[in-house]
Amino acid sequence: MELDPTRMCALLVGLPDVFIVAVDAGLTGPIRVHVETTATVAFCAGCGSRAWSKDRPVVELVDLACFGRPARLVWRKRRWRCPNSWCRVGSWTEDAPGIAPARLAMTDRAGRWVTAQVGRCARSVNEIAVELGCDWHTINDAVIAYGTALVDDPARIGEVTALGLDEVLFARLGRWRTQHWSTQLVDVRRGQLLDVVPGRNAAGPSAWLAERGEAWCDRVEWATLDLSGPYRRVFDTMTPTAIQVADPFHLVKLANQKLDEVRRRVQNETLGHRGHKNDPLYRSRRLLTKADERLDDRGRTKLMGLLEAGDPRGEVRMAWHAKEVVRGLYEHHDPDLALEFVTRLGADLQHDACPPEVRQLGRTIVRWRTQIAAWHQAHVSNGPTEAVNNLLKRVKRAAFGFTSFRNYRIRTLLYAGKPNWDLLATITPR
Ligand SMILES: [Zn+2]
Repeated sequence: MELDPTRMCALLVGLPDVFIVAVDAGLTGPIRVHVETTATVAFCAGCGSRAWSKDRPVVELVDLACFGRPARLVWRKRRWRCPNSWCRVGSWTEDAPGIAPARLAMTDRAGRWVTAQVGRCARSVNEIAVELGCDWHTINDAVIAYGTALVDDPARIGEVTALGLDEVLFARLGRWRTQHWSTQLVDVRRGQLLDVVPGRNAAGPSAWLAERGEAWCDRVEWATLDLSGPYRRVFDTMTPTAIQVADPFHLVKLANQKLDEVRRRVQNETLGHRGHKNDPLYRSRRLLTKADERLDDRGRTKLMGLLEAGDPRGEVRMAWHAKEVVRGLYEHHDPDLALEFVTRLGADLQHDACPPEVRQLGRTIVRWRTQIAAWHQAHVSNGPTEAVNNLLKRVKRAAFGFTSFRNYRIRTLLYAGKPNWDLLATITPR
């Protein structure tokens, strides 16, 4: 079969309804393919008259790299004008979403490709910008435009029976590296990031849940949270029928924190200075926070010796014991006894003989006893949330620190929010 050269070019360029005016490939820089649409007539949207062709403004669009070189699609657009002076339409420029969406400086096919590269493969925007020979913003704008349509697909969220809230630091901004926090909403059954909202107070997650509606909220049976008041308020008001479960990881972390506080205070009171590498308590810090079953005999003997030397009133030992008992909570498997056991532990830790930090831990445990004990019925935790966080480390590494919450939200949801990637071929960019 013989093809005429123009037709061959059109096939290579692979766009419908355009013909190639010229291909301009110098020795360096991008390959430029000049195109026009095949449209020869147009009619006024106002009065229906046949339009006059006015002039041809040129737009240069970033396209997919071609033969190992960056490429540009140079589109000589048609500007049409209504012939009737009384018609309000005046003039307009042709658009062809199959070539490029109206507001982006990139072809449609390149926009979809960069969205998959950045969103699905977690490649950095910079890396893609180098590959396509354009600037960071051109790539980022496309990822946000197509990505927003993908993550806001209502089918992505579906029904959720176990919902977790978790605070996440998303950026440090400005001269003082101010911390900017966000809240992640995670389907802890499926390990899917549902959404991120700014801040770590009750307002963001509450508004998000209100948007889902009452019926959606009522289907949530389990609600996992760290030991934070704001998230408890979110669940109290928005999902009142859900059983709240305090995340084991956060309780054990709190017990370890208290142990650390006791160690540093005793260190200061006995030696009058902060931990130094030769101080027995300072040397014991890693052994103290290590799980007991992971200490071998040598480690245990060393730890006891160090405490003997640096902990005259036995306060660090008590805090260490408290931490181990808290960890032990999760080895019990009787849901009926859990609440009683947790309540008793909270009361015991408030005994007068305990260091003040441990008494504080006891009070927290009593305040959260229902949520802590609920884990023994549900066995749901924020574990999947941690898994999502680990997944997102890849995105954060690629992004070298986000500065805009919108970018952060879209990029993390594309990667960990399980969007339907089959839709990428058909969605309309926002
Ligand atoms: Zn008209």
